[in-house]
Amino acid sequence: MTYRFPKLIKTKRDRGELTADEIRFAIEQYTAGAVPDYQMSALLMAVYFNGLSRLELDAWTDAMLHSGEVLNHDHVTGTKVDKHSTGGVGDKISIPLAPAVAVCGVPVPMISGRGLGHTGGTLDKLESIPGFNVNLSVARAKEVLAKHNLFLIGQTADVAPADKKMYALRDVTGTVESIPLIASSIMSKKLAEGIDALVLDVKFGAGAFMKDFDQAKVLAQTLISIGRGAGKQVHALLTDMNIPLGKTVGNSLEVRESIEVLSGKGPADVRELTIELGAHMVWLGKQATSLDEGREKVTNAIDSGAALDRFAKIIEAHEGNAAVCDNPALLPTAAYREPILAAESGILTHVEPMAVAMAALSVNAGRLKKEDAVDPSTGVELAVQVNDSVQQGEPIAWLHHNGSGNDSAVAHLKEAFRIDDDMTAPPPLIRERIQ
Ligand code: URA
Repeated sequence: MTYRFPKLIKTKRDRGELTADEIRFAIEQYTAGAVPDYQMSALLMAVYFNGLSRLELDAWTDAMLHSGEVLNHDHVTGTKVDKHSTGGVGDKISIPLAPAVAVCGVPVPMISGRGLGHTGGTLDKLESIPGFNVNLSVARAKEVLAKHNLFLIGQTADVAPADKKMYALRDVTGTVESIPLIASSIMSKKLAEGIDALVLDVKFGAGAFMKDFDQAKVLAQTLISIGRGAGKQVHALLTDMNIPLGKTVGNSLEVRESIEVLSGKGPADVRELTIELGAHMVWLGKQATSLDEGREKVTNAIDSGAALDRFAKIIEAHEGNAAVCDNPALLPTAAYREPILAAESGILTHVEPMAVAMAALSVNAGRLKKEDAVDPSTGVELAVQVNDSVQQGEPIAWLHHNGSGNDSAVAHLKEAFRIDDDMTAPPPLIRERIQ
């Protein structure tokens, strides 16, 4: 069936409802290059203003999902579960989480993204491990999943190509910030991984994509409803991103911190979120009969060293140097480690995530445009966390840099820290669970 594209645009513009067939046609034709960007832009803007109905949302996601290859992992027994985070500052959780969950007997076919703007990406972090190949063929990734219960790859050109093309168009047409478009974009990619269940880490706050808790909750509910519509079990955690997660922001620095967490150490917030998200994954993956049992299994996987061993095997399977697990000094290091000194003595009560993210971006730890290259060695290392005491003139953070962008980074970091006389009551890391 063919349709006149202007009629589809007018239907959405006038708050009508498109049929599933019309949506499939629009997305198929656009992906095939038969519809120009200006017509798809008009349709996206109409969706931006008027939203998508329940039926439209499922059809939109389904059309994007089936615009490319949908992976199938029937060769591996077990309930396949993945995690998706909407992104934050210092969010390295996938790296300790995925091997810990794999050790608990849950297959994790994880397809991750790259960093953009203030949020980092798992692929950039993994690529800071010498030799790590995130572009394994699908056939090889399936072998790695069968052997180790985990792969960690990037989106191939064949996975949800409609989303790839449409996301680039949304980026330049002011249509990114639409909950139905964001939700269908995320879920089309996740459903294409061949998962049975999904755990979402939906972040809210100053360092998150969604600044406002209520908006983040609507996004979480929308993501869950799409997943359920597709017959998958989805749990969501709404987590606070008003301060950076952990003590490092930057690719090799975050891998180092992840190895610490996998060694049973590391910052308490990173460990807590790893265990909580892992518990939901292990529960959904039917390797625990309750959240508490899931927590216990993930904690054991980490504290016994089994999760770190699994990470080393995964690095090897991805052609990387697994010796980094025993010797993180093998990770790329920046030429300079410049201290940022505390301006006064007292208690650290706040770290502004956007200031830390901007500092990291200034030294090329992240990218402003998709085409930018990232420096794997640079970033920000916090010397203290909220409610630690600091002495005037002592390092409060270190900037890892290679002599470029450091003046601007230091200026951002000077604005990042609040020091008071008294401790603050930090908000809970996990504000709400939807399951
Ligand atoms: N992340 C995605 O994958 N898609 C969006 O639309 C926004 C964030």
